[in-house]
Amino acid sequence: MPIYEYRCMDCRKKFDLLRPMSQSSDPAECPVCKGQAKRIASTFMAKGSGGESMGGGGGCSSCSSSSCGSCH
Ligand SMILES: [Zn+2]
Repeated sequence: MPIYEYRCMDCRKKFDLLRPMSQSSDPAECPVCKGQAKRIASTFMAKGSGGESMGGGGGCSSCSSSSCGSCH
């Protein structure tokens, strides 16, 4: 099950919630004030897309150079 990130509309508390993808856009209940929390951009997604550029060079296993530009 994927983890989604929510922020409470009332107390601004941010929290993670493990729930089925089918319920990802449903409002969640804040663990602090029991208010309504809405899903925000997931950090999981951000890490997945930014990981490659943050790696700082190094190609794939078939690359001899520092990038994959020549191996495809
Ligand atoms: Zn709250």
